[in-house]
Amino acid sequence: MGAETVLTAVASEVRACTRCPLHRGRTQAVPGEGNPISDVLLVGEGPGAREDATGRPFVGPAGQLLNELLGTLGWAREDVFIANVVKCRPPGNRDPEPAEIEACAGYLDRQEAALDPAVIVTLGRHSLQRYLPGARISSVHGQLRRSGSRFVFPMYHPAAALHQASLRETLFADIRGLPAALLAARQALEEERVASVQVMTLEAEPEPVLSSSPDDSEQMTLFQEPR
Ligand code: URA
Ligand code: SF4
Repeated sequence: MGAETVLTAVASEVRACTRCPLHRGRTQAVPGEGNPISDVLLVGEGPGAREDATGRPFVGPAGQLLNELLGTLGWAREDVFIANVVKCRPPGNRDPEPAEIEACAGYLDRQEAALDPAVIVTLGRHSLQRYLPGARISSVHGQLRRSGSRFVFPMYHPAAALHQASLRETLFADIRGLPAALLAARQALEEERVASVQVMTLEAEPEPVLSSSPDDSEQMTLFQEPR
């Protein structure tokens, strides 16, 4: 199944979901949106008032700032995919509870698997916690980090900068490092892929070792296949 098909299926399940108590207070669930072939997935916390009213992620004041941040890279929100840790608005914008995050995690897992992004940008504490449990945002923000098979690039939540002006500069400084982080992650993932293909080839054909010729078209397709 292609990424778009999976993402559409997840979105319709989310809109009908009653897995946790947050469904009771929602106007609309907010599954997430963006480019299904993007190499960059942004993960926020959960819908706020405007997101709840429209069913779209980051369309309120924090979203305005996010658009500005992406704009400094020449990127638009349509170039990335934007999702949240919980898909329904916590009442009064309170923090999502661990049980709610847990109940909702399967949706983000599937979005992540479908997109298979080179970099996941975490926005805020709850998103960071999912990928780097125990990490402190103050020490990891703006740095490319490994989380299992994934690369993550932690950032402060844009909403935090609306309350604390000094974080605005930090956000703009951090996002300037994102294109280089994306390139580095892509390169590392590609090297790992090549290495694992070589291991598979060696395991599948024990002899003669490393005999493949440059015009081995079967092996070339493996490298050229879209992820
Ligand atoms: N804050 C978030 O974490 N997510 C949104 O979608 C909007 C605001
Ligand atoms: Fe379902 Fe997630 Fe909404 Fe809870 S927050 S009702 S798990 S979609």
